[in-house]
Amino acid sequence: MDPIQHPGSPPKTSEVVIVGGGIIGVTTALFLAKQNIPVTLLEKGRVAAEQSSRNWGWIRKQGRDADELPIVIEACRLWRQLAEECGEDIGLDQTGVTYLANSDKDMAGFEEFMTIAAIHALDTRLLDADETGKLIKGMSRKFKGAMTTPSDMRAEPWLAVPALARLAVRKGVKIVENCAARTLEISAGRIRGVWTEAGYIEASSVLVAGGAWSSLFLRRHGVSIPQLSVRVTVAATEPMPEIYAGAAADEHIAFRRRQDGGYTLAPGGSNLLYLGPDAFRHATKYLPALMANPLGTRYLPFAPSGYPDSWSAPRVWTPDSLSPFERMRVLNPAAEPSRLRSIERNFGRLFPQFEKVRLKAEWGGMIDAMPDVVPVVDKVRAVGGLFVATGMSGHGFGIGPGIGRVVSDLIQGNETGHGLSRFRLSRFYDGSAVRLGPAL
Ligand SMILES: Cc1cc2nc3c(=O)[nH]c(=O)nc-3n(C[C@H](O)[C@H](O)[C@H](O)COP(=O)(O)OP(=O)(O)OC[C@H]3O[C@@H](n4cnc5c(N)ncnc54)[C@H](O)[C@@H]3O)c2cc1C
Repeated sequence: MDPIQHPGSPPKTSEVVIVGGGIIGVTTALFLAKQNIPVTLLEKGRVAAEQSSRNWGWIRKQGRDADELPIVIEACRLWRQLAEECGEDIGLDQTGVTYLANSDKDMAGFEEFMTIAAIHALDTRLLDADETGKLIKGMSRKFKGAMTTPSDMRAEPWLAVPALARLAVRKGVKIVENCAARTLEISAGRIRGVWTEAGYIEASSVLVAGGAWSSLFLRRHGVSIPQLSVRVTVAATEPMPEIYAGAAADEHIAFRRRQDGGYTLAPGGSNLLYLGPDAFRHATKYLPALMANPLGTRYLPFAPSGYPDSWSAPRVWTPDSLSPFERMRVLNPAAEPSRLRSIERNFGRLFPQFEKVRLKAEWGGMIDAMPDVVPVVDKVRAVGGLFVATGMSGHGFGIGPGIGRVVSDLIQGNETGHGLSRFRLSRFYDGSAVRLGPAL
């Protein structure tokens, strides 16, 4: 584990406490501090040690759910602004995102998104086979076509989120790493504070932005979120000649140019779900996603010990006893060997001129997902002062600063400027049908 960058003890009081030091918690804290609101961010391990440093680094408007689009458009503006403000090189670059089509069905899916893109005046466009071949050099085969958004961006997540955390500290946020939030103190239907492994913090508002741990944390207080996590594998190549400056994918391989001159690669195909109590509890809510893509998930009957939905994970603990969050400071799944072979095979087939691709790093991650592939961003109606922003469903990095800004206003009781009904927690319990977000 990296050395602690944000040591110390939590304060005795803080107007707002944020649980989780990923992109969502960090940017929410930053926007609150810009309004001079006292805010403390608790991170059980290290800032951005889980999803927020392991992701592909795509910042895309392309392929987004229609209700996410206005927020991600704002996020793109904020990324530029924050990159300037933090004064560090976070690898932010506007190099475009491209989806490659293998079939007419793929192209038809892209056409559907073009209608949404037009409403928001995006620069997204469809390419034919020849244009696709010209955009991405040296591909061994011809695709049917592609969809591309030149204004989409990329950044290096492991640089960006820690840099934003340092900016947040400069703006007045108190960040405490190695400090798990154990339980909430609630009385008369209101948040009163947070019990941490290093003592109690009195607070009037709490945001749960705990990524894959949010469901376990909230369930302890009777708030149920149908959140599950899937394991994925990523790798980085040695520096190599440029084939495309941006990020691109088809169903077999995803690749993104890195600042160091290599590519971040990920395999297509299925993700791995460990079956645990939550997987069974929420199974029916995931049926639409399962039916839309029956081969998209592989299953194993047990998560490794200590994972959020493992059979042995404690579901009840007290403020003064060790919680599941300190037992696992960083959720750090290994890369799957079969997925790494798939990366090498599929990238090698598409770009045979590079012979055997040389991987310099490989890692795993747990993506926290919701049944309809869009997040929960809401206040918890039953508990005054409790807010939740989680379940970013594999695309929370790019939209992160937009969500952070929105949630900071939600906490302050301000107008957020965007419709949030799509992201309400009650959609899973008020009889609404599950409306799947785009699987693009
Ligand atoms: C391999 C991979 C590729 C991805 N690619 C992209 C991409 O290209 N573009 C994109 O937009 N998104 C992508 N994503 C998704 C994106 O990374 C996530 O949606 C986003 O990082 C989620 O941020 P978060 O802050 O919600 O959660 P996280 O980054 O997971 O942070 C949550 C934090 O909360 C902490 N925590 C939990 N419980 C507690 C507690 N009780 N007390 C204290 N701390 C606690 C955890 O330790 C963790 O650090 C990808 C994800 C993965 C894994």
